[in-house]
Amino acid sequence: MVATLYIDGAWRQASDGGVHDVHSPHDQSVVATVSQATQADVLAAITAARASFDSGVFTSWSFAERSALVAKIADLLERDLKAIAKKESDDTGKRIIEAEYDIADVVATFRHFAALGLKQHDRSVDVGLDHVTSKIVHEPLGVVSLIGPWNYPLLQIAWKVAPALVAGCSFIVKPSELTPQSAIALMHLIEEAGTPKGVANLILGPGSVVGTPLISDSRVDMVSFTGGLNTGQTIMKAAVEHVRRLALELGGKNPHIIFADADIDAAIDNAVTAAFLHSGQVCSAGTRLIVQRSIHDKVVKSIVRRAGQIRLGGPSDLTAETGPLISKSHLEGVSKYVEKGVAEGATLLVGGKRSEDPAHANGWYYLPTVLDNCNTKMFCVQEESFGPVMTVEVFDTEQEAIALGNDTVFGLSGGVWSTDSAKAARVASALRHGTIWVNDFGPYRPQAEWGGYKQSGIGRELGEHGLGEYLEIKHIWTNNSPSKSGWFSDRGDE
Ligand code: NDP
Repeated sequence: MVATLYIDGAWRQASDGGVHDVHSPHDQSVVATVSQATQADVLAAITAARASFDSGVFTSWSFAERSALVAKIADLLERDLKAIAKKESDDTGKRIIEAEYDIADVVATFRHFAALGLKQHDRSVDVGLDHVTSKIVHEPLGVVSLIGPWNYPLLQIAWKVAPALVAGCSFIVKPSELTPQSAIALMHLIEEAGTPKGVANLILGPGSVVGTPLISDSRVDMVSFTGGLNTGQTIMKAAVEHVRRLALELGGKNPHIIFADADIDAAIDNAVTAAFLHSGQVCSAGTRLIVQRSIHDKVVKSIVRRAGQIRLGGPSDLTAETGPLISKSHLEGVSKYVEKGVAEGATLLVGGKRSEDPAHANGWYYLPTVLDNCNTKMFCVQEESFGPVMTVEVFDTEQEAIALGNDTVFGLSGGVWSTDSAKAARVASALRHGTIWVNDFGPYRPQAEWGGYKQSGIGRELGEHGLGEYLEIKHIWTNNSPSKSGWFSDRGDE
């Protein structure tokens, strides 16, 4: 019996007994078999979450008590880090070491929100009246659907689950059907830590089936979603009827600007990492290189050489530097994207095809690819490939670099390289993206907010704001010396 749905404090099989095999992107072997929920299962999970929230079983806990629970989950995650990383590596095809870094980040996320919950959240407002006490208090938002992608499966879910728990929300988690194993492991730890029944629920299955009730049921107060722009738009449309709160972390097509006065060696090395880490399956990947004309040839030549040297391999290949794409359909999408770029006039300098290494024959390996001579009118510059594809554009002036960096519907992240700190600061300020790295690309910390401008999303995860997404704000005005308002005259019984 496969019982990997967690609903109302119990592990259950799907109501129709349905299961789903999870395949390794490295060699297509079956790495797990999990339950595949029906819509009836989703409704049961929403019912459980709603009932637990309305009962007050968790909302009655203080912030400090909920913080202690989240800190305990962090301890348990740390205890099981290697085992969870192995599951995540199996599902995503990424190297074990990368998966271990990711689960360490999950632990850090839980610790951050546990610490944040201990801060004072309520505040007094001076309303200028001695007889009035005015307080702003924060309360749990309600029932939330938490939907995550496959690229950093547990980390993206952790950014939602940890603040939801600290806030006192009840929730239903849905990881991508491609990468469910680490979410199952997390739910076991949430149970072990002593979370009240019905607060945390796990649903598994394809978004096209189980997603509909999660994003449209009137009992869901908020949807927090990380994934693609199109799915984000579907979720926005579903939110209209009930004016549901949304937190959306969507895609990015992130500019990486290198000025001629940069530390070129460091910039090149970071540009390679920014574009090809996790084979480009990173929302903040720096896949849009924008380089000053005078150094274009030198920079691009070096990046092409380095891209051609990147060693691809599966989870247990100790020599590998990055892994496969997540699925066959994703590999086909990346291939078409590159073909379209070439048809539009881009120059293919390296890659542009599936790996021909016999060791990769059964996996979804695509070679690191560089497309030169690109411009902002091209599909490959405007759209996200979510694969190992770097496009190259050139600029002459600072204003041109800024204009190019902002010429996108997305606004998730960007980088700027220059040894002129005043210029770098001007460009960082002018770029309309949620995170800007100066002379760096990629690092983040749970203490700092993460999220997008424009079509990269709504709201922020992490930082302090990441907890605020799961809280309602209430103003309580208490008159300690009641008197008549005197606004309307009382004319007796006339
Ligand atoms: P998708 O939008 O395809 O899927 C994301 C999640 O939504 C999955 O769990 C998926 O389920 C689910 N889903 C799909 N359709 C629906 C629906 N109609 N209703 C409810 N849920 C649904 O994105 P990917 O998983 O392909 O992830 C890649 C995208 O995520 C990229 O665009 C990337 O930029 C973005 N992303 C953004 C991040 C950020 O911080 N801004 C971080 C990481 C990724 P299932 O897969 O089971 O079908």
